[in-house]
Amino acid sequence: AVPVALVAGLSRAAHFGVLIKGAKPLEMMARIRTLVLDKTGTLTDGRPEIIEIDSRNGMPEDDVLRLAAALDQASKHPVAQAIVSAAKQRGITLPVPLEVAEIPGEGVIGTVDGQMVIVGGEDFVARRTGRKAGSNQALAAGSVLVALAVDGRLAGYLIMADPLREGAEAVLTKLRQEGIERILLATGDRMEVAERVTKGLRLDGLCTELTPDQKVLTVLTERKNGPVMMVGDGVNDAPALAAADVGVAMGARGAAASAEAADVVLLVDRIDQLGVGIEIARRSRRIAL
Ligand code: ADP
Ligand code: MG
Repeated sequence: AVPVALVAGLSRAAHFGVLIKGAKPLEMMARIRTLVLDKTGTLTDGRPEIIEIDSRNGMPEDDVLRLAAALDQASKHPVAQAIVSAAKQRGITLPVPLEVAEIPGEGVIGTVDGQMVIVGGEDFVARRTGRKAGSNQALAAGSVLVALAVDGRLAGYLIMADPLREGAEAVLTKLRQEGIERILLATGDRMEVAERVTKGLRLDGLCTELTPDQKVLTVLTERKNGPVMMVGDGVNDAPALAAADVGVAMGARGAAASAEAADVVLLVDRIDQLGVGIEIARRSRRIAL
């Protein structure tokens, strides 16, 4: 039978909007040594705003936004949703994309207005168009860089700002006090972005440009040093959440796939819920032992 202290812990956590799927993950949560955090939508707010459109090869700025948004209608990625709502806010009518394929965490390819369009991370778009990814000067002002290519040619960049979630720094300090020794970032995004976003957080490592499979590898490698908790929000995080000792999904706005793969779902859309969960887990374990 499950000790009554653990049952009480589960119910207490649920009361605070931290859904823990059983006594096992609750107990495991109390023993976590390493925390692996996704960036977009987990450590950051995940509702980026466009601060600049850097058009290339003579394409008007509104067309850069229109084509990117048209294709991103097919994606649930937080960056994609931000691009679609920005276009709608500007009153741009979006054509329906055809033959759409999404590569989770990387971008989308499809046909818009009879043209072959690619939208996504700089490296993804560069790879698909046979160019070399360069750094973008304008990115210094933001933290998310989305590239657009039309018929194999670079058409522009959307530079977006995606600030850290409120309380991110405080919760990491609290988690260290609760005994977590190592905190790492695992992101599909680039190093220059990861460095800028996490400046001041004193993380123990930044793992960047990761595919979903490489996020899994990061988790498995860290598990050699003790129990690992992985926190993520996206479809691309789901395999890594399943591979961790405790997978935590940002449930309020995150992808359904990540909530399903996770052992813990944060139903309140705040990063400090992590601290609440860990604290309850540690306390319940002390009482149960
Ligand atoms: P993280 O792993 O930090 O959550 P992702 O790997 O999900 O970040 O995304 C990294 C980057 O990939 C984004 O900042 C964006 O540049 C790009 N990206 C991924 N999917 C899309 C999409 N559907 N539309 C536009 N850009 C995308
Ligand atoms: Mg994410």
